[in-house]
Amino acid sequence: MPIDPTLPYDDNNIFAKILRGEIPCNKVYEDDAVLAFHDIAPQAPAHILVIPKGRYVSWDDFSARANDTEIAGFIRIVGKIAREQGYVQPGYRLLANVGADGGQEVPHLHVHLFAGKPLGRMIAE
Ligand code: 5GP
Repeated sequence: MPIDPTLPYDDNNIFAKILRGEIPCNKVYEDDAVLAFHDIAPQAPAHILVIPKGRYVSWDDFSARANDTEIAGFIRIVGKIAREQGYVQPGYRLLANVGADGGQEVPHLHVHLFAGKPLGRMIAE
């Protein structure tokens, strides 16, 4: 079910539960501000979700409310994870869905990191 990205943050969303350790995840990277883990239903040979630990509903919320340090740190870590996983060559794709038309289903900001094969058209027909 698509979410409404204008609603307040919901502490019961699935990624909040993963961050609190109430639900397990297959972790790729963690620091004070960021957690990255494998998507439970991968849509490419590699499909990693990168999330900030802060309470941000979406990319819209994060870009509006997070401070410059959080935003810069998050972007650097996404790049670092991709580098460390060896995805830079031959390449990878980042995706952040926002709201209903974007197809966002979990109301905690996450960037999808896809890799492992030629990823085809940017948007499905
Ligand atoms: P969205 O559609 O919101 O951009 O993407 C949500 C993603 O979260 C989906 O790709 C879905 O497979 C993934 N996901 C949903 N629940 C879980 C979960 O409990 N664990 C993990 N690792 N991924 C999940």
